[in-house]
Amino acid sequence: MTPEETTAFEAKIRAYVGREMGPPKRGFDDVNAAMIRHWTEVTGDANPVYTDAQFAAASGKKGLIAPPTMLAIWAMEGYPMALPQTGKVDVQRELHNLLEAHGYTGVLGTNTITEFYRDLRPGDQVTAHTVIDNISERKKTARGHGYFIETVTKFTDQKGEPIGRQVFRTLRFAPSAELAAAKGEAAKGADAPLEVPTRIPSPRGHDNAWWWEAIDQGRLLIQRCKGCGTLRHPPRPMCGSCQSLEWDSVESSLEGEVFSYTELSYPKFPGYPDPLLCGLIQLREGTRLVANIVGCEPQRVHVGMKVKGKVERVDDKTMLPNFYPA
Ligand code: ZN
Repeated sequence: MTPEETTAFEAKIRAYVGREMGPPKRGFDDVNAAMIRHWTEVTGDANPVYTDAQFAAASGKKGLIAPPTMLAIWAMEGYPMALPQTGKVDVQRELHNLLEAHGYTGVLGTNTITEFYRDLRPGDQVTAHTVIDNISERKKTARGHGYFIETVTKFTDQKGEPIGRQVFRTLRFAPSAELAAAKGEAAKGADAPLEVPTRIPSPRGHDNAWWWEAIDQGRLLIQRCKGCGTLRHPPRPMCGSCQSLEWDSVESSLEGEVFSYTELSYPKFPGYPDPLLCGLIQLREGTRLVANIVGCEPQRVHVGMKVKGKVERVDDKTMLPNFYPA
């Protein structure tokens, strides 16, 4: 794009800031026990205050509550949103279509910030009001040039009272692999080396850097509470069983089985294999971790499949545990 075209394009996308995504979206179902039970099963959250009415009544909550993390679930639009768009598209889709048409074909959810104002209980009704709140300047990122788009969703209950708020940030980018390939085309014969895209770097912070550093050394560690011996993953500062802050770690045998899995088909990321199989691996030690399943036709993967892991180099910058059929 010429500078004039870029200015015109940016004016177009900026016109979306402040616009509502569509009319407020009332959840298909009110807060209910069945969806709460499914959620706690999937996440493995055994807190009885969500599912055991007698326990909940005697607890400080004085009755059943929904897990706070379900806030955004209640007013989600369901599977039709993943189907090909027919007819009218909402304002957010319109904005993304515009970016896509101008070469910003990559999309990456970068982070969310969620605030909870009160507990939700069975029978509550949730309505979501979503606004496109902010679009950044054009930024250079490791994935390519792009724009960060922030939407803000305010959740209200049956009385119109606020119950929570969620900021959702996505990066819409022009994949740099394509840029590199285009440059490579242009520079053919000039021996310009093509930049090989690598995976998104692992987020390393105060509580989990040690785990990634062991991965870099080829070892998969599992955090262990020094107070009660309970193993936990992903790494975090406090034991969920006895609240001890003291911990050490054990090395995993890398033996396990597929607890669940999914095949990611869209969008395709530069630097990632295709097909990309993401598994939730139940380790023999008892904890689970998300890792790629490799060395296997996607149609052969099944829940309960025995796997054996290997911590290995997947690109120039990245070591990761991969799991192979055992
Ligand atoms: Zn403990």
